[in-house]
Amino acid sequence: MKYIFVTGGVVSSLGKGLAAASIGTLLEHRGLTTLMQKFDPYLNVDPGTMSPYQHGEVYVLDDGAETDLDLGHYERFTSGVLSRMNNLTSGQVFDSVIKKERRGEYLGKTVQFIPHVTDEIKSRMHQVTVDNPKTDVLITEIGGTVGDMEGLLFIEALRQFALEVGKENVCFIHVTLLPYIKAAGEVKTKPTQQSVAKLRELGIQPDIIICRTEADLDEDNRKKIAMFCNVERKNVVAFRDVAHTIYECPLDLRRDKIDRLVVDKLGLGHTPSPALENWERFVQRVIHPKHKVTIAVAGKYIELQDAYKSIYESLIHAGAHHDTKVQIVRVEAEAIEDQGAKAVIGDVDGILVPGGFGDRGTEGKILAAKYARENKIPYFGICLGMQIATIEFARNVCGLKDANSTEFDKVTKHPVICLQEEQKGVEDMGATMRLGSSEAILFAGTKASDLYGNADRIQERHRHRYEFNSDYQERLQEAGLVISSVSADEGLVEIVELPEHPFYIGAQFHPEFQSKPNHPHPLFAGFVAAALERSQLH
Ligand code: GLN
Repeated sequence: MKYIFVTGGVVSSLGKGLAAASIGTLLEHRGLTTLMQKFDPYLNVDPGTMSPYQHGEVYVLDDGAETDLDLGHYERFTSGVLSRMNNLTSGQVFDSVIKKERRGEYLGKTVQFIPHVTDEIKSRMHQVTVDNPKTDVLITEIGGTVGDMEGLLFIEALRQFALEVGKENVCFIHVTLLPYIKAAGEVKTKPTQQSVAKLRELGIQPDIIICRTEADLDEDNRKKIAMFCNVERKNVVAFRDVAHTIYECPLDLRRDKIDRLVVDKLGLGHTPSPALENWERFVQRVIHPKHKVTIAVAGKYIELQDAYKSIYESLIHAGAHHDTKVQIVRVEAEAIEDQGAKAVIGDVDGILVPGGFGDRGTEGKILAAKYARENKIPYFGICLGMQIATIEFARNVCGLKDANSTEFDKVTKHPVICLQEEQKGVEDMGATMRLGSSEAILFAGTKASDLYGNADRIQERHRHRYEFNSDYQERLQEAGLVISSVSADEGLVEIVELPEHPFYIGAQFHPEFQSKPNHPHPLFAGFVAAALERSQLH
């Protein structure tokens, strides 16, 4: 196996994850098998317990691992199947070292950062290598910025690892920023020089430097960076701000032939230039769509760019599929409580209520669901959004006045959404939800089954504690709510829908974790199609 390590310098939010994912895309399009992973230097065991304010979206994998949102980019940009082995945090590293120490596995030695902690990091690298014998290139992104104290052990582990597997099998790529100083009218290379100097101090000489720039990277600056950073001039690669969509990133990096540089460095022999036609066509459809729809996303962390990342991406994929630009209107659910649904979302073509926790804004979301139901506006509820649709239906169609989820009202008279028995005693917050992919049965004749191409079984990813309460199933069904899918093992409700409505679907799982650029998720595709139909009515 060959290894690429992607580090970041100067500032965070450089698009390091996108750069890594784009390299994955390009290598895959050259016919290589890639696998991507991320090392995160923070002490949380996983990001599952972190607030979206701290961390953005928690991305869930098939095996139920709660991971960094960069893994979402990896799955959308490449086809490698990721597992909990592909996101390593300092929390996991130390947890494992301390457990080994308690079991006496260090045989009386003093347990030290070097070699014991670095060995732990390297052992993960070796394990991933053994577990994926068919992979040509393993791409590892290291979170944080070079120079951060908390990242030092990871950098040191990589230095040692490169020695162990042979430097010819490793390519170090450093992503840095070239700030543009307006007053001087100049692009500055000094921060890059200093950040590479820092990396070299730690024993790592980057092979390729990716420079994030607002503008183009001119020849003088390329030469300067090459000389000061001790890399060949051709290995200084520009990574410009893309104009329209993140899916342009691989195309942008391809301009300086980064994939070719990597293949040469790793001695991967002759591989054909990447066949990017399909990718390019997708990008063109995103940039120049024929139609346009407006979709309100009514959530709780709406001001944060990253809190609903996979949902926004899934809407882009579905939009491109229908040659449609999806204009997203981000709506604070609490604003609907204050101003009413008509004022806030009265003129959109579709309403999406995403996942969420805690009761802030839930009454606003219930009003949004009611408005969508009564006015036949396409509604798509995801996880909490499905629970919201159920509560709304119970209250306003079934007449169960104070129906609620026990998450928001512990003593509600009608707990239409509640905890399963096995969740009741759970006290630990980390990794204790219903997590990961599981099989569900789809019922023929329903809208959902139609959208999934009449499949009778589906696999979808979950991340929630509360469930549709089966005690209310009959009453809600009698009033017209259709249950179109249940879990294969326990018969838990997975999808609800309203048949007399153009599109009113709630899914207890997270379809947004399985949508890809040229393969939109069927529920998202159906939702955007319904919104498009509505937009063409007026
Ligand atoms: N808070 C709800 C639950 O735990 C929904 C979770 C979610 O939307 N991801 O069941």
